[in-house]
Amino acid sequence: MPSLSEVISCLSGYDPNAVPVAQAQQIIRDVVAPVQGVEKVAIRSALDRVLAQDIVSPINVPQHDNSAMDGYAVCGADLGAAGPTVLKVVGTVHAGGRFDGTLNPGECIRIMTGAPMPARCDTVVPQEFTEAADATNATAVTIPAGVVKTGDNRRLQGEDLMAGKPALFKGKRLRPADLGLLASLGFAEVPVQRRLRVAFFSTGDELRSIGEPLDAGCVYDSNRYTLYGMLTRLGCDIIDMGVVRDDPSALEQAFRTACENADAVITSGGVSVGEADYTKQMMATLGDVTFWKIGMRPGRPMAFGKISSNGRSAYLFGLPGNPVAVMVTFYFFARQALLRMMGADDAPLPLMRAVSASAIRKKPGRTEYQRGILTVGEDGLQRVRITGAQGSGILRSMSEANCMVVLHHEQGSVNAGDPVDVLLFEGLV
Ligand code: AMP
Ligand code: MG
Repeated sequence: MPSLSEVISCLSGYDPNAVPVAQAQQIIRDVVAPVQGVEKVAIRSALDRVLAQDIVSPINVPQHDNSAMDGYAVCGADLGAAGPTVLKVVGTVHAGGRFDGTLNPGECIRIMTGAPMPARCDTVVPQEFTEAADATNATAVTIPAGVVKTGDNRRLQGEDLMAGKPALFKGKRLRPADLGLLASLGFAEVPVQRRLRVAFFSTGDELRSIGEPLDAGCVYDSNRYTLYGMLTRLGCDIIDMGVVRDDPSALEQAFRTACENADAVITSGGVSVGEADYTKQMMATLGDVTFWKIGMRPGRPMAFGKISSNGRSAYLFGLPGNPVAVMVTFYFFARQALLRMMGADDAPLPLMRAVSASAIRKKPGRTEYQRGILTVGEDGLQRVRITGAQGSGILRSMSEANCMVVLHHEQGSVNAGDPVDVLLFEGLV
């Protein structure tokens, strides 16, 4: 992987004081490399973990051609096209059983869903299309013309998963369907990437931890809790280092401890104009870190790079201090980088479209993230309205919202009724 300085030196028109969101995302993607380390875990423990190798199917699923319906297994060629066909019922086959006899022309076999297709049968006539004297113990059935085509209601061997073909690909975050799929192949364990270790701390002399008296002019540290939630959802092992004062030696010690113990370090606060100077000096001794002013709102200041201490290094995400800005910069920068470090597929955040319920003022030339509430009207249309005050310190706006309205870099003001992109919080990791 190229270093941050190398990546940046190749960019034309790069200005750390005016970095578009997409450029910052690209730089981070180019610099961050997946961590090494694979472990085998039981299927149930693999939920939300990242698959470390392609999984090739050792068997066909299903193992045999089988019936998709309860009914009668027939040879399609035996059915008359012009009028009803009467077939003799010569046996019954249940799921998990088999029929070993041979079928002669004019004969059929009663078959249940999931039962293997007997030899010579290629079609299943569903029970409800047939007429039998006595449905449960019929010796003959009448099949009207035209109710099935040859091959109907038959599941083919390997149609779900084919032996020798890849069933799941490396880099996938395993979802419930994948656990079931692995089970259907008979796997007890799967190889997954080791968990990422992420250390984080909050910076600021005004911060108090829960349980401490809230002195005048102070606020409780909330960022460590939003970070805890977001990192836990990503499946990281977390190291919560608490609050660190705005003191160069305390900060340096915290950065050193963090990068000696983690793959990534996330801090909040201390990167805004008034505070960045001494952080910058310290970073110059600890590694290759750049301080950005990103063309976005909220979340303009951010530091990114790699820091080292005692031969260990970690990627650093120095997020702004404001609680909403922490979440926005985490979701739009850190999340993608951490997933990449975890070896997960690089899927962009899934944005969807909704109609804006009101006009939104917006200047082209920066990306804005407004907190929104998405609802589905009786007309089936998805509408989004903004949650009141949008200050970057108003965490309530995030709590009330169920989505963020993403107003892209080039985009200008939005009229009521215009479509906008939204990022749903539901399901977001
Ligand atoms: P800073 O980026 O350090 O200048 O902080 C910007 C604003 O965010 C200030 O009002 C801080 O008090 C507030 N802030 C910083 N860190 C936290 C935190 N961990 N929890 C709550 N508010 C914070
Ligand atoms: Mg601060």
